[in-house]
Amino acid sequence: MVLNTEFRADPEWAEAQDAADPLQALRHEFLVPPHGDGEQTYLVGNSLGLQPRGVRQALLDELDDWARLGVEGHLHARHPWLPYHAEVRNGLAAVVGAEPVEVVAMNSLTVNLHLLLVSFYRPTSDRHAILIERHAFPSDRDLASSQIRYHGYDPAQALIELDPDEPGGALSMSAIERALVEHGKSIALVLLPGVQYLTGQAFDLAAITRLAHAQGCMVGFDLAHAAGNLDLALHDAGCDFAAWCSYKYLNAGPGAVAGAFVHARHARAKLPRFEGWWGRNEETRFQMQPAFDPAAGADAWQLSNPPILALAPLRVSLDLFQRAGGMTSLRAKSRRLTAYLAWLIETRLADKLEILTPSAPDRRGAQLSVRVRAGRDAGKSLFDHLVAQGVLGDWREPDVMRIAPTPLYNSFADCLRYATAVQAWPGIR
Ligand SMILES: *Cc1c(COP(=O)(O)O)cnc(C)c1O
Repeated sequence: MVLNTEFRADPEWAEAQDAADPLQALRHEFLVPPHGDGEQTYLVGNSLGLQPRGVRQALLDELDDWARLGVEGHLHARHPWLPYHAEVRNGLAAVVGAEPVEVVAMNSLTVNLHLLLVSFYRPTSDRHAILIERHAFPSDRDLASSQIRYHGYDPAQALIELDPDEPGGALSMSAIERALVEHGKSIALVLLPGVQYLTGQAFDLAAITRLAHAQGCMVGFDLAHAAGNLDLALHDAGCDFAAWCSYKYLNAGPGAVAGAFVHARHARAKLPRFEGWWGRNEETRFQMQPAFDPAAGADAWQLSNPPILALAPLRVSLDLFQRAGGMTSLRAKSRRLTAYLAWLIETRLADKLEILTPSAPDRRGAQLSVRVRAGRDAGKSLFDHLVAQGVLGDWREPDVMRIAPTPLYNSFADCLRYATAVQAWPGIR
């Protein structure tokens, strides 16, 4: 139970917090879906972030430049297409705490993880296991299993799934450490999330990296739920690689172009890699020589020229992160927002909901995962009741509701509206 003398469960208090919030103006940069005469209480930015207002014009500009310039848009568009992926590089690097050479926007998340595993999962007969968490997102489990099979090993033996050991389903650092001490010499790759999608647990990337490297394992992170949520410091954490999607906290739209990180220590390393012309050194790419001359850093993993219409929203969205003052300022607001939501649940809704996400602020991001005490059918009934009230969270089978007040566009008033709507739920009848 969180004892907190600061928070109040009344609308005046919540509105006063919002009025004093230096980031409040950013909410108006987003299109919040309507509900009745008002707006939804949108607490599902962990699943699909809202559309930044500037996206529509950015797309129209690209369509106009294409109409006006044809092929010459590669060099003469307002945002020239040829180096377009470089326009998002600094913004992406800032959001994940990387050096510019370490990041690239390309493909989608699962594709990027496969491409990175080609380089960083190099199994040998003594060392071919991949360590993931039990209840990993299905795509992560699929990609790890299929990579194991692709190399001729058997996932039944080579995919190690770490069981949660804390109430609520979180995984302690000591459990990770024990697994690495016990199996480390047979593990080729540790592949864990930055924030676990189901429990909302945030992991200590630097600590996991140290433990994994001490055993000689490669280590990579799936940051689907961490990018744009946590104040990441990927370079300092020292992991070998990471990848994330951009449609969750990064608000770049459905199926948006994903990101990838390769640590600077590998920037010029000779690594096995699936290659394509966009991974070539820019200086020599258009000389059409037979030999692959790789670009330095993460760019070398690119295969194709970038999808401009899909990248434009990411460029707009990253500008908003910069305007917010970066992840440090967003994270400061996020901690208070999520603490407020947790306090409301624990003090007002404890008879109905149980929080599964760790309570320590460093062990969670924006998202809280809650279980409905009355069971799965009640949970779905509560979820439907909330949707009818215009309060959007999301539902993960079998019995978890996820709610994520995101600091770019959510407010204290949104958290209070959620609590009020849950209180108004009549239960199953
Ligand atoms: C959202 C999510 C994905 C989605 O993968 P796509 O390739 O973008 O479809 C994968 N893994 C995790 C952990 C996710 O949360």
